[in-house]
Amino acid sequence: MSRVAELLAQAAGPLLSFEFFPPRSDEERPRFDGAVAKLAAFRPAFLSVTYGASGSTRDRTVAATATLAATQPATVVGHLTCVSQSRDDLLRTLDRFQAAGVRNILAVRGDMPGGPQQPFEAHPDGLTNATELVQLIKAHGDFCVGVAAFPNVHQPDNDPELDARIVVDKAEAGASYAITQLFFESHRYAELVERVRSRGCDIPIIPGIAPLTVITQIERFAALADCPLPEDFVADLRAAGDPAEVRRVGMARAIRLCRELLDLGAPGLQFFTQNRWRATTEVLQALDWPCP
Ligand SMILES: Cc1cc2nc3c(=O)[nH]c(=O)nc-3n(C[C@H](O)[C@H](O)[C@H](O)COP(=O)(O)OP(=O)(O)OC[C@H]3O[C@@H](n4cnc5c(N)ncnc54)[C@H](O)[C@@H]3O)c2cc1C
Repeated sequence: MSRVAELLAQAAGPLLSFEFFPPRSDEERPRFDGAVAKLAAFRPAFLSVTYGASGSTRDRTVAATATLAATQPATVVGHLTCVSQSRDDLLRTLDRFQAAGVRNILAVRGDMPGGPQQPFEAHPDGLTNATELVQLIKAHGDFCVGVAAFPNVHQPDNDPELDARIVVDKAEAGASYAITQLFFESHRYAELVERVRSRGCDIPIIPGIAPLTVITQIERFAALADCPLPEDFVADLRAAGDPAEVRRVGMARAIRLCRELLDLGAPGLQFFTQNRWRATTEVLQALDWPCP
């Protein structure tokens, strides 16, 4: 299986990648399988699977990642967090990924089970941040490691320079690329890239995209993005008369954002699919993304 770093280095143009979450039950399995199958038509460079806070969710992540690695032609990335786990727990999970042929890990710290607002507390035998996780993974095996980056400042520090320094720390620890949290203004991405580059770090930074299709996602996405959505966007969404119009406004924004990011030279687009395929497909079709 290829390393994401190699794919990025060899790519003739921007890469496409999709994030899924592991099915939480047998009932959710068809939605996961269906999204993977539909989006496979775009020949993504890599697929990734998120890692949950509880033990059972973690097992499902490893299982779903292993299934994708065994069945999909794309490179597969397993996410790994260090929240509520000892170093030995993390090493055991890495061994399970390795046994499944997974050589790409997205190393993120994770949030406490109570959510992002809860102050982070390291496991007594564990790690305090993603930089330490990158170091642990690189020391343990031949993994290609990606990390998170934040176009909107990451809370609670609210310090864009610290966010950039942390990306550079993670690159110096051995990370080969970063994927951003979702955001809705391309200048935020350009500013993050500039802050990282001004520190002498040329790590590829792939923007993370989540098309907003229902009105309740305004608050949910704001919590994920670490800041309120842009005022003009929220005003357009609230002014939309019905769910179909909300979806149209959200899709138009996602398509515009992707175009601007590609114009800025983004090395790829990573879609947070939420195990759905329609919105991502429509954005890619609007971008005339090749679908062999
Ligand atoms: C693409 C992407 C995928 C994700 N996938 C998952 C997933 O699968 N599962 C999941 O649970 N979560 C996931 N997350 C969410 C992520 O776990 C949270 O956003 C978390 O709050 C931060 O993770 P991080 O890796 O950026 O942490 P870190 O890089 O460790 O940073 C977290 C905080 O620690 C502090 N810190 C870290 N390093 C330093 C330093 N050198 N100096 C001072 N302070 C420091 C800062 O306060 C910083 O904001 C993902 C996020 C993204 C963007």
